[in-house]
Amino acid sequence: MTEKTIFKRIIDGEIPANVVFEDDQCLAFHDVNPQAPTHVLVIPKKEIASLEAVADEDIPLIGHLHRVLRDLARQLDLGDGYRVVVNCGASGGQTVDHLHFHLLGGRPLGWPPG
Ligand code: AMP
Repeated sequence: MTEKTIFKRIIDGEIPANVVFEDDQCLAFHDVNPQAPTHVLVIPKKEIASLEAVADEDIPLIGHLHRVLRDLARQLDLGDGYRVVVNCGASGGQTVDHLHFHLLGGRPLGWPPG
């Protein structure tokens, strides 16, 4: 059996997280190493390794996660603008093999990213 990811351990309540939202499909919590004044991660409770692993049956879930991202941006006062990032694969900067969406805001965000 493969080892649980750190995010699966958070979902299962084995390690703590600073949770800002939870429902039956997803969990949102503050990133432990924030890259902006607001840096929240939104993750599906379903174990999906990356964007590459998203199946057709997951499309409604992905839509739901985006609605949660938008609603969190409103709740967290990111009205000036924000960024949603998915790092995919090693060269894409992905370090945790559980699909997650970074919600970043609270400062001007440069482009292009590194
Ligand atoms: P990525 O590099 O796109 O895979 O993003 C993984 C993110 O998870 C990084 O921004 C980490 O800072 C964050 N992270 C890792 N462990 C934890 C944790 N225990 N609680 C909150 N965020 C975490």
